Amino acid sequence: MTGATHLSSEVAPGIYAISVPIPYPFKYVNCYLLLPSPSSTDGPVLVDCALDTAEARSSLGAALHEHGLGYGDLEHLVVTHHHPDHYGLAGLIEPHGPRVWLLDVEKERGHVFWTQPQRMSQAGQTLFYQHGITDEYLRDLGQEMTKTRSRVHPAQNLHTFTDEQLLRLAGQEYLVVWTPGHADGHAMLLRESDGVLLAGDQILERISPNIGIWAYSYPNPLQHYFKSLEKTARLGASVALPGHYRPIKDIAGRVAELKAHHLERLEFLLHLMNNRTQTCWQLSLGLFPGSLNLAQRRFAWSETLAHLEYLVAEGAVKRLELNGIIHYSR
Ligand SMILES: [Zn+2]
Repeated sequence: MTGATHLSSEVAPGIYAISVPIPYPFKYVNCYLLLPSPSSTDGPVLVDCALDTAEARSSLGAALHEHGLGYGDLEHLVVTHHHPDHYGLAGLIEPHGPRVWLLDVEKERGHVFWTQPQRMSQAGQTLFYQHGITDEYLRDLGQEMTKTRSRVHPAQNLHTFTDEQLLRLAGQEYLVVWTPGHADGHAMLLRESDGVLLAGDQILERISPNIGIWAYSYPNPLQHYFKSLEKTARLGASVALPGHYRPIKDIAGRVAELKAHHLERLEFLLHLMNNRTQTCWQLSLGLFPGSLNLAQRRFAWSETLAHLEYLVAEGAVKRLELNGIIHYSR
């Protein structure tokens, strides 16, 4: 390899992080290239791929090229979850040869979002409407989703693994760790030999991963996420390599911060509810004030809904329907 700037950096032995630009606030997604030792008969593996933009294609392609690789040299493409920034290019990479893998739960519960667009769009619009999102937003949200869909190419022949399965990737054993919350079938991969954890979006350094309810997700994802956080801390991994931002060494510390963050948000939400009956949309404007773009508003709404439904399940909040619109009160 020559030149001063490298398009990837070795973040753990044999694991290279490739920062690929994405048109989202966190700006980059980390794709991880796992390289086998020269004596291994296994091929290189890519964990996660960005969504389809011209910048992402050229940046990922160039980073692989620096290692003397093309998509056709990859043995596997393993995807932590179905979200566009981790999965979008899968269907374009697959025809070059690598097998594309997802957790079985994610194939059933997440991947269908891309393969059944009509059914999913309809269910999404119905859910937005039921929760008090205005017509103007509904139309714009529909258009925004059409744009996102154009950037995601589902794999045609998806392979699945299961929770707690041992996968042999680039000559090393990785344990599959199912961590529902951010996505129902979100999976992490723990390298058995040294505790390196490919963490997807389970824990991130600077932001709290979105925990939201969508038309196709579990009814109480925040409850799942709390359990998944504990599971993550219990693994005792040496370092987490996340889907965005830098590696995390103090995993237990970050888990505690994220848990505290959600507990604080639940308290604040209860405070915002006061004695008024409100829709999730109204409450999301209070929980996430300030000017957010459309996509961010959508995430704010879905995160508020996850918190509200958590409180409903805990018995702290009541859900009621008024003229076909769902409202919440204490
Ligand atoms: Zn992500």
